[in-house]
Amino acid sequence: MKYEFKGTPEFAKLMDENDKLKNFRKRFHVKENEIYMDGNSLGLSSEDAHKSVHQVLKHWKDEGIKLWGMKDGKYFHYPQMISERMAKLINASKEEVIVMGSITTNLHQALATLYQPTKERYKIIVDELNFPTDIYAVKSILKLKGFNVDDAMVTIRSDDGRTIDEEDVIQEMKDDVALILLPSVLYRSSQLLNMERITEIAHQKGIIVGWDLAHSIGAIPHNFEKLQPDFAVWCTYKYLNGGPGSVGGLYMNKRHLGKESGLAGWFGNRDEDQFQLRHDFVQAEDVSGYLQGSPHMLSIAPLEGSLQIFEEAGMKQIREKSLIITAYLMYLIESRLESLGYSIGNPRENHRRGGHVCLEHEEAYRISQALRDHCVVPDYREPNVIRLAPTALYNTYEEVYRLVETLEKIIKDEIYKDYSNERRTVL
Ligand SMILES: *Cc1c(COP(=O)(O)O)cnc(C)c1O
Repeated sequence: MKYEFKGTPEFAKLMDENDKLKNFRKRFHVKENEIYMDGNSLGLSSEDAHKSVHQVLKHWKDEGIKLWGMKDGKYFHYPQMISERMAKLINASKEEVIVMGSITTNLHQALATLYQPTKERYKIIVDELNFPTDIYAVKSILKLKGFNVDDAMVTIRSDDGRTIDEEDVIQEMKDDVALILLPSVLYRSSQLLNMERITEIAHQKGIIVGWDLAHSIGAIPHNFEKLQPDFAVWCTYKYLNGGPGSVGGLYMNKRHLGKESGLAGWFGNRDEDQFQLRHDFVQAEDVSGYLQGSPHMLSIAPLEGSLQIFEEAGMKQIREKSLIITAYLMYLIESRLESLGYSIGNPRENHRRGGHVCLEHEEAYRISQALRDHCVVPDYREPNVIRLAPTALYNTYEEVYRLVETLEKIIKDEIYKDYSNERRTVL
């Protein structure tokens, strides 16, 4: 990293003035007196997303069931239409990407479809720092196929509790491994894994590779045309600002299209067969073949608006600003907070970190609560992590500056001591 930062409020202001993406902030519902740093858990709503949701509501109100046929079948093909636009975020072809389900259900679908174990090759590699739901999905499929999880699930350990060493993953790629499932960016430490190296070596060894893009989609550009993984899943409510419970995404590489859907449903039929309502399933040739039930239209609708913003801003520019604004945050942490017990838990190199900063402190829980009462929305993760995501589309350098001042004050003035360490369900 070679950025020249200064620790003055004037510098933050200057950075904001020169920010090429500054006009996008106006499109979001940002509260003027609140610093929202939780875009990696639930992205903020935008005017664009509101408009597209209201449009679907209006068409439902006006048209009833005729909704499906209006505008040349726009809504009948709504998942495909949104998918085509989402595919561009990862540079995949439209045949390979479908908006459906959630990370959890899409993982179940991908695993049920692609995990075809034999007696000799049946193990699945995961890492010990992944989000629990990914691990549950892997355990489910192993049990369904009659394997003993202790034997069949290979867990890569972390040396420092924060990061995964790619070489450890490669070491475990033995002849009995059928599949690898890893996150692109680790949700706690923000480590960005070397997806190219892992995918390439796994493929040399005949292993199927799946990526969970929860913390990279909308924050980091991907080039799946080049990477050619086997499958990927993601959610759309984090960096993509699709709203609470918005519909997720599934990528299936071309080479697998046509493989029988592991968890079939009637929306996976070819268009011309779906309403024949026969009990024979005739699967669509493209990734739509993995659709299951009726698409959740009202939870897809916000994406029509929010993807518009991503198209205008461009993933390259989004990543550029994200790298600079997170580097600026790290610079301020290093210069003002390290003497107060704060430390940075994410990798520093640009090619090894995602869109958030992992700030550690032994009083992280109480600090997070104090932050909320000081108009900052952070994200807390056990046992000692405050996740801070200054997002490219709606956060400013000035907010980052004020955030660091608040973090400093909470310790210096011992404000955190007013809070309890007892955990509540959601923070
Ligand atoms: C957020 C997140 C999930 C959430 O899964 P859903 O099924 O969308 O609720 C799963 N995995 C990772 C790595 C995440 O960060």
